[in-house]
Amino acid sequence: MPHPHGQLYAYSFLPLKIKEELDSCKEYYSKKGRCMICDMNREEKEFKERVIAENDSFIAYIPFFTDYPYGVFIVSKNHKGNFTEFTDIEKLHLAEILKGITGAFDKLFDRLFPYMMCIHQTPVNCNEYEDSKDYYHFHIEFYPPLRDKNRIKFYASSEMGAWAACNPLSVEETAKTLREAYER
Ligand SMILES: [Zn+2]
Ligand SMILES: [Zn+2]
Repeated sequence: MPHPHGQLYAYSFLPLKIKEELDSCKEYYSKKGRCMICDMNREEKEFKERVIAENDSFIAYIPFFTDYPYGVFIVSKNHKGNFTEFTDIEKLHLAEILKGITGAFDKLFDRLFPYMMCIHQTPVNCNEYEDSKDYYHFHIEFYPPLRDKNRIKFYASSEMGAWAACNPLSVEETAKTLREAYER
């Protein structure tokens, strides 16, 4: 697609991937009494090497478990579940970091950089997760299909056949390259 396009899905069921994420967050919260994504933010900030950028309200990093070499997450710093909870300044900071990250993608290999971007928020009209405000946390996940200027990171046998992701590159290295592109 040579132009950006957006799709909004409203499912009659909870998709499996989202359910997995919600269940993991819920389990973590019941064991530790803390939000897993708040803890992820804190650990990434301490470790530094996978962080691309941050402002007062959001932090962007490539988590160690990403399926894709440039699979950035943008996460709110405050524990918030969805867009409707953001203040005006948070909305402005989200727009700034989003523009910065997508700009860094285009700078990375000096070409238009394709990506899929998904917004994960607390589910609505869903009795099973009506308490998700406690343990689920707004974040954006990117799935860019490139691993180099003209090389694709294929979704290959391991991913297709076993749902076992194989990221061919070290995220500490791709984070460094993307951070440099962000600064340019
Ligand atoms: Zn949180
Ligand atoms: Zn997610």
